Amino acid sequence: MLPEELADALRSMGEQPYRAKQIFRWLARGVTSFDEMTDLSKSLREKLRAEFELSTLRLLRKQVSKLDGTIKYLWELPDGNAVETVVMRYRHGNTVCISSQVGCRQGCAFCASTIGGLVRGLESSEMLDEVLCSERESGLKISNIVLMGIGEPLDNFDNVIRFLRLVNHPDGANIGMRHISLSTCGLTEMFDKLADLNLQLTLSVSLHAPDDETRSRLMPANRGRGVAQLIDACERYYEKTGRRISFEYAMIDGVNDTPDHARLLAQHARRVSAHVNLIPLNHVEERDFAPSTPEHMRAFIRILEDAGVNVTVRRRLGGDVEASCGQLRKKAAEHRI
Ligand code: SAH
Repeated sequence: MLPEELADALRSMGEQPYRAKQIFRWLARGVTSFDEMTDLSKSLREKLRAEFELSTLRLLRKQVSKLDGTIKYLWELPDGNAVETVVMRYRHGNTVCISSQVGCRQGCAFCASTIGGLVRGLESSEMLDEVLCSERESGLKISNIVLMGIGEPLDNFDNVIRFLRLVNHPDGANIGMRHISLSTCGLTEMFDKLADLNLQLTLSVSLHAPDDETRSRLMPANRGRGVAQLIDACERYYEKTGRRISFEYAMIDGVNDTPDHARLLAQHARRVSAHVNLIPLNHVEERDFAPSTPEHMRAFIRILEDAGVNVTVRRRLGGDVEASCGQLRKKAAEHRI
C-alpha cells in the first residue's frame, strides 16, 4: 500500500493517519513482522496484525557467480509460483534486475523466459519484495532497478506502475526514476499511456532487428505491429517525455548482424536519438542461435558510430549461473536450497 492508502485505512480503524508514514518506512526497511515496528504502541501493532498481512518472498535458491559476484535468486511467491531476480555489482552502484511476470507470453525465439508461456503477472507487492528481499539477503544497498527479468512489463501495466510508485516513494526505498529502466519487446499500444505518466525512467526497447522480416521472425510481438509503428511510438515517447530511448539489440550470428542491418538500425536510432546497446547473444540450451563473431560485431559497431549513433556493448554478467540477459526462466518451486 502507498502511504496515503495506509492513512485512509488507519483513519477508518479510528487510528491516527500520520502513523502511516512510520509504518511505510518500516515496510521499506523490509521488516517481516509488526512487532519490529517498535515506535508503534503494542495495541496498534496488534490491531495491524489482525487487519493486514505483511508480504514477503521465501528464498528457494541462491547462486553466486564466480566470475563477477553477480547473485541470482529464486524466490517462492505466496501462491507457490517462483521467479528469478539478479543482483549485479557495478562501479556506479548495485543494480537489481527484477521479473515482472511468472513466465512470459511474448514468444521471442532466442529467449528462455518465454519457454512454457505465461502463468500470471506479478503483484506490485511481489515486485517490491524482489527489491527489498534481494537487498536484505545480499546485504548490498540497491541503487538501480532494471525491469529486465522474466516477463513483459507492459503486459502487466497497472501493477508495474504501482510498483514504480511504491519503490520511488521518498518515505520508502526512494529509488529515483532516473535510476530505473523498463525494458519492453515493443507493445506499442502502451507507449502513449506510459508517456502520459511522464515518469523520468529510461525506456529500453528490445529492437533486435531493424526490418519487419527479421524482427517478425525473431519476435512474434512484431507481427501485427511492425517496425514503422514501433519507431513512430518511440518518437512520440521521446517528444512527450524528453527522455532518450535505448534500443537493445542482441547480436545473432548470420541473422541480424549484417552491414545492411546496421545501416537500417542507424537510421532508426538517429530518427529518435536513441542510444544503441548491443548484447552479445547469450546461450539458451533450447535455442539454436549463436552469438555474432567479434569481427562482425566490430564492423557493425563501426557502421553505427560512423553514422553518429551512440553505441555501447552490454557487459555479460553472471554467465556461469545463467543470470545473463535472456537466460532467466520460469522454474518450479521444488528447487529448495
Ligand atoms: N520482455 C521485456 C523484458 C526482458 S528484458 C523485453 O522484451 O524487453 C531482457 C532482455 O534480454 C531483452 O532485451 C531480451 O530481448 C534480451 N534477450 C532475450 N534473450 C536473450 C539472449 N539469449 N541473449 C541476449 N539477450 C537476450
